[in-house]
Amino acid sequence: WLNVTAGFSESDASNTYFSGIVMDITDQKQNDLRRSKFIGMVSHELKTPLTALKAYVQMLNNWAKKQKDNFTIGALSKVDKQVRKMLNMINSLLNLSGAETGKIHLNKQNFTLNELISEVIEETLFITSSHHIVMLPSELINVNADREKIEQVLVNLLSNAAKYSDKTAPIEIGCTRIDDTVTVSIRDEGLGIAQDDIAKLFLPHYRVESKETEKISGFGIGLYLCAEIIQRHQGEIWVESELGKGSTFKFTLPGC
Ligand code: ADP
Repeated sequence: WLNVTAGFSESDASNTYFSGIVMDITDQKQNDLRRSKFIGMVSHELKTPLTALKAYVQMLNNWAKKQKDNFTIGALSKVDKQVRKMLNMINSLLNLSGAETGKIHLNKQNFTLNELISEVIEETLFITSSHHIVMLPSELINVNADREKIEQVLVNLLSNAAKYSDKTAPIEIGCTRIDDTVTVSIRDEGLGIAQDDIAKLFLPHYRVESKETEKISGFGIGLYLCAEIIQRHQGEIWVESELGKGSTFKFTLPGC
């Protein structure tokens, strides 16, 4: 606290008084920044061994397949699922730390968006396998963007579509290009989102509070990160949703 001014609220014909408190938040901001940097460093340190672990699990899996050892294949697929979950969380924490310290660096390259979408569908099967995932057909669309970060956006949106809908509900994902704008859409037939919540959905740590969502775990940072990443690409992100019917998340990127 640097300077505290407490007064009273009163007005007469010529003067208006107000009451208020002035607080120096420099220390608080520096602590937040230190916390964000610490989260970034720890996540980075954890990512390296986990990435190695993932590679070894894949290697062992190939070996077990050759041996036709179904027990080991089953056990490894469970380890693989948990390692991927941890890597997703770590990537989110890394991006969160980057967003909070103003350091979301884009490493742009040209790539085919449809290919990335197919890869993400494969990669997230461990979360979405019971859903019927449909990739809508489209022409090949090239974009100039940070492939890893767009991958993170797609992973977040696709896993949310699965998380917030019934186990067997369909999920549709597609991309289109009109003039210079590429639009990606992910549609689910899940819980849907009330209009009041839609306005706050992309804020950090915002989670919808309802009987249905209280059993579903999460940090409430996925959509905030999606918005930060898409805005850094000069794109837009939004959701069209109806409670009880489902949601369609859409984002745009400039085409190339
Ligand atoms: P998390 O899923 O970790 O809580 P997100 O930032 O990804 O965090 O999502 C914020 C909130 O938005 C979620 O808690 C959930 O209530 C709501 N939400 C996100 N995606 C969907 C979806 N596809 N259907 C319904 N609700 C959703």
